[in-house]
Amino acid sequence: MAERWEEDLKCAIKCTRCSTSLKSDNERILSVYDHQPICMACKKAEEKRPDYPDVSKQMIGQCMAETEAMWSDPGGFCYHHFYGYTCS
Ligand SMILES: [Zn+2]
Repeated sequence: MAERWEEDLKCAIKCTRCSTSLKSDNERILSVYDHQPICMACKKAEEKRPDYPDVSKQMIGQCMAETEAMWSDPGGFCYHHFYGYTCS
């Protein structure tokens, strides 16, 4: 189970929101709404949603608590909702 999020999400080949294809060196980021990898353009749109500040605040607290038991690096997973990353 450890590092599962990396296998499932880190190297997603397309944005789950707009289906733009993502190359391994394209920056992507996780949605605070559904934890799915999305492109940076979709993240910008997500940040404009009126409930984004509340949802993101709630997400980080819940994320840290829930993933701590499952994954060795909950911080890595949770913070990738705010900091873009690449596959490589
Ligand atoms: Zn997108």
